[in-house]
Amino acid sequence: MYNKRETKYPMPVQDPLVRNQNFKEVALGYDGETAKLEAQRCLNCKNRPCMGGCPVSVRIPEFILKIAEGDFDEAYRIISESSSLPAVCGRVCPQERQCEGACIRGIKGEPVAIGGLERFAADYHFAHANSVGRPLSNGHSVAVVGSGPAGLSCAGELAGMGYEVTVFEALHVAGGVLSYGIPEFRLPKEIVRREVENLKDLGVKIETDSVIGRLYSVEELKTELGFEAVFLGTGAGLPRFMGIKGENAKGVFSANEYLTRANLMMAYEEDSRTPIFRGRRTAVVGGGNVAMDAARTAKRLGAERVFIVYRRGMEELPARKEEVRHAVEEGIELKLLTNPVEVLTDAEKNAVGLKCVEMELGSPDADGRRRPVVKEGSEFTMDVDCIIMALGTSPNPLLRQTSEGLATSKNGGILTDENGMTSLDGVFAGGDAVTGSATVILAMGAGKKAARAIDRYISRSFS
Ligand code: FAD
Ligand code: SF4
Repeated sequence: MYNKRETKYPMPVQDPLVRNQNFKEVALGYDGETAKLEAQRCLNCKNRPCMGGCPVSVRIPEFILKIAEGDFDEAYRIISESSSLPAVCGRVCPQERQCEGACIRGIKGEPVAIGGLERFAADYHFAHANSVGRPLSNGHSVAVVGSGPAGLSCAGELAGMGYEVTVFEALHVAGGVLSYGIPEFRLPKEIVRREVENLKDLGVKIETDSVIGRLYSVEELKTELGFEAVFLGTGAGLPRFMGIKGENAKGVFSANEYLTRANLMMAYEEDSRTPIFRGRRTAVVGGGNVAMDAARTAKRLGAERVFIVYRRGMEELPARKEEVRHAVEEGIELKLLTNPVEVLTDAEKNAVGLKCVEMELGSPDADGRRRPVVKEGSEFTMDVDCIIMALGTSPNPLLRQTSEGLATSKNGGILTDENGMTSLDGVFAGGDAVTGSATVILAMGAGKKAARAIDRYISRSFS
């Protein structure tokens, strides 16, 4: 059954010049026959290096073997032992740095398309499965704050064990960054809705428009509402800015605000009541996934030219390689080794240009990356009227300010012990709220790990 083909079976995608005009999903997924052929490229290695590269240790060779044999339901079952959001992870995980980065087939040729196969198994399952049954209640209740991948995974794991779980979400829609950050063309919102519906079928209650720290404090979730434990999965939604002159001009946005308007509020739809600034020429400052998403969104909203402005080089771009490739194919221009120093404005405080300097890479800094250094006399101005700052985010300070005794690090992350418990008894935390902005799979893994610790805590304290 082994397939010697050295390259991945390409996944069909929308044509770049068509897709940069619409918000539909870019990658279209494998059909069953191609998925089987791709799965047959796997060597079923005894020492499973791919599994070592997966932060939640999905049994990769086993699920791939099931796809190769055409048993797609069993493939899904194996994946879902370790991952609560396979349809999401198959689409957005940085596989090239994780499972696929460690795949033996990548030594001579391309690795097995593990992400594409995971996505296939999940999509197949959702297209064919019936709703799951509700487990019997064990009589204990847990509050989860935040409905991103950390909160959803924690809730799902606990509900599966029979806990009565209520998720409190500040926004009017559940899903966290999966709903408000990652655009429709990369992660259709229907998939997130499906995952949330699955949790509801398990008995999880989701209370949207509920800001904890305002509606109830963390303490009150226990003392007034009677939850025996609390999980904080509140993410890192506070945007950072550069602090340069002119940054508060009209036409300058954080990527968070820009993407929330576009994704959550669907400002790109003709009949949307949410306004969005449609720049003529847009500069997105930053080089991560968030920057690529903002740039590709700006292009779809009609900008003539869109630039990624990043102070390091191509090698250092932190975004997933596939996203950079897709962005470039769609016409996004990379302005590398470039750093903004001032937003230029007109008399009405509209942004009318971005003054930048060229950079070169010097010696490595503390984290081993070569430090960008300004090239003397290299100042130049970019002709742009929209500037989107995608420079990273930090945890929102609200819970820290309203929860007495909740220990946090100096960058605002919630401190936890090795089981995910915070300095407050019975209050656990995980995901970006602890680590700062990271990845979906790490947040999901933290949510699952905390759920197991919550189960042990409640068994010890209340049984
Ligand atoms: P979030 O997803 O941030 O969810 C936290 C939730 O808590 C939010 O819904 C928020 O509204 C809610 N909340 C906050 N405070 C309160 C409160 N006081 N009360 C109630 N609710 C509250 N990762 C990848 O792996 N691959 C990618 O391709 C990728 N692309 C990304 C693109 C963008 C634009 C962004 C912003 C991030 C991207 N990431 C990507 C990172 C990834 O999405 C995050 O690491 C992940 O979502 C973190 O999950 P979380 O559950 O910890 O937090
Ligand atoms: Fe298959 Fe690659 Fe994992 Fe080996 S390393 S088992 S070839 S996916």
